[in-house]
Amino acid sequence: MKLKGRSRRYPAYGSKMYSIVHGKCPRCQQGELFVSANPYKVGQMIAMCSRCEVCKTDFTRETGFYSVALWTSYPKTILIALIFMLLYLLVLHLSMLLFFIFFSLSMLLLPPIIMRLGRAILLNMFIDFDPNTHK
Ligand SMILES: [Zn+2]
Repeated sequence: MKLKGRSRRYPAYGSKMYSIVHGKCPRCQQGELFVSANPYKVGQMIAMCSRCEVCKTDFTRETGFYSVALWTSYPKTILIALIFMLLYLLVLHLSMLLFFIFFSLSMLLLPPIIMRLGRAILLNMFIDFDPNTHK
């Protein structure tokens, strides 16, 4: 099933990466996973919808389900930190003071996005895309 205007986007509609990157329901990929589209909205950084407004898939899992998202967030944080360190020190040749400032700012600004990605990855591990859910 092709939806108008979505076929040229990357990641492709219907893939798990689409759901993860765009914060969409893993089942129908149309409903929102998070209450607010803005990950920096105070109080709603990782607030999730209880169920999909399109296909009614339940996003609430057993107690502690989303704490497992730490295991998907931790490796991403390490990888991103390494990339920033290489970028700032080897590519941009920043002084240690500038490196410390930029690196600290980077690591302060990224956690809301990383936590959201971790939750989306975790949910996508257990819910598969079903193109027939919104027919
Ligand atoms: Zn849905």
